Amino acid sequence: MLRFFNTLTRQKEVFRAIEPGKVRMYTCGPTVYDAPHIGNYRAYTFEDLLRRYLKYRGYAVTQVMNLTDVDDKTIRGAQRAGLSLQAYTAIYKRIFFEDLRTLNIEPAEYYPAATEHIPDMVALIKRLLERGYAYRADGSIYFRISRFPDYGKLSHLDVRGLQSGASGRIDSDEYSKEDVRDFALWKAWTPEDGDVYWDTELGRGRPGWHIECSAMSMKYLGPHFDIHTGGEDNIFPHHENEIAQSEAATGMPFVNYWLHCRHLLVNNQKMSKSLGNFYTLRDLLDKGFKPKGIRYALLSTHYRQPVNFTLEGLRAAESAVQRLLDFMANLQTARGSGFDVEPLLQQTQARFEAAMDDDLNISAALGAIFEMVREVNRALAQGQLSAADAQQVAALMQRFDTVLGLLTPEEAPVSDTVRALVRERQAARQARDFARADALRERLRELGYLVEDTPQGPRLKRL
Ligand code: AMP
Ligand code: ZN
Repeated sequence: MLRFFNTLTRQKEVFRAIEPGKVRMYTCGPTVYDAPHIGNYRAYTFEDLLRRYLKYRGYAVTQVMNLTDVDDKTIRGAQRAGLSLQAYTAIYKRIFFEDLRTLNIEPAEYYPAATEHIPDMVALIKRLLERGYAYRADGSIYFRISRFPDYGKLSHLDVRGLQSGASGRIDSDEYSKEDVRDFALWKAWTPEDGDVYWDTELGRGRPGWHIECSAMSMKYLGPHFDIHTGGEDNIFPHHENEIAQSEAATGMPFVNYWLHCRHLLVNNQKMSKSLGNFYTLRDLLDKGFKPKGIRYALLSTHYRQPVNFTLEGLRAAESAVQRLLDFMANLQTARGSGFDVEPLLQQTQARFEAAMDDDLNISAALGAIFEMVREVNRALAQGQLSAADAQQVAALMQRFDTVLGLLTPEEAPVSDTVRALVRERQAARQARDFARADALRERLRELGYLVEDTPQGPRLKRL
């Protein structure tokens, strides 16, 4: 039976989907103001493992991941770069999607961008105003925490004692708030926002970060869905606020299972942009590391244990992946007889599933796989593995790999030349010079790439 540790109850609970056979899940996505660091990718890789294992277990998964493309950081970044907010965030959206492909993270069903859902957020805030959960102050709108007695149920904090400054994300400059704990749903325009604002029924301004996730999750998944995830830093205040906003607006429970991964650390500190102790994916690729090794390093520690990131650790991860690849290649050479592989396969599959069912215990699951690899290698070396048995082993490995995502051939990162051609073609399209755009498409085809134009921008496919 599949069990997850639920942050809401601080217990491992049996997973029961709201609708049999279907899972609806929401995963907090990137703020697209910069290239993500690999700490962020620990969260997205954990979510990928969760998604893939739910599918392995037969669930149809609908996953939504938001793109935060308006907030203080994106606005400041765009201003510094002298670009429109849209042009600026488009750069980082593209990097994000490229990284996901490089890390073999399965795409979610929806990637809603905040700036494309302002009306949904406005409607939700209006509902909170009508129901007395929100109030206006100096043109902004705040959530009234004192009206929501369940506040704190996720983070298990005693919120009565909560002071401003307890979290960096509480804005203590808002003197007009009724209560220092109250958080902004809608931020009135200020001159620092420049040309970033929406004129709405709520006035001129922009949404707060938390309302974005409430509005977009409920839009695509309904008011009550199965799973919500993020890194541990999302628990408070972000997810606590999401619960407050959503449940206050609908009067219904919002999410059944909350799953949070621990941080990726560097020298026992959270890897983060603000501490400057980070690697982006490209930093590691430039050092010659391979995507699958990086994926393994991010994936192979249980998500509720912190991981200390080191380059030696990454090298060990690479050799683990290489061991699996060599194993798959060796299986092709089996021509022997005498070893009955069937019981070993059954036992390994049972161990893999029992481990993964137990709150995604990936280290035990990998342990079972590597034990099988050792035993089969021994049989191979002694000439005892038949070709038919080897095929069965390979099939089971492929089945495991629908969860692990480690065996598919490595994609070489796209070269700078190809990138430049894609950019040039995009510019030609924007200038409506379609003849030139077509010529560039042809050139890319010669280099082995097919360009597809998607709402998220051009996407490259290897031919
Ligand atoms: P952000 O773009 O800062 O909102 O973060 C995007 C996601 O990455 C969130 O789910 C965060 O919880 C997660 N995250 C940020 N830093 C780390 C880290 N060092 N380790 C694991 N997850 C992280
Ligand atoms: Zn969120």
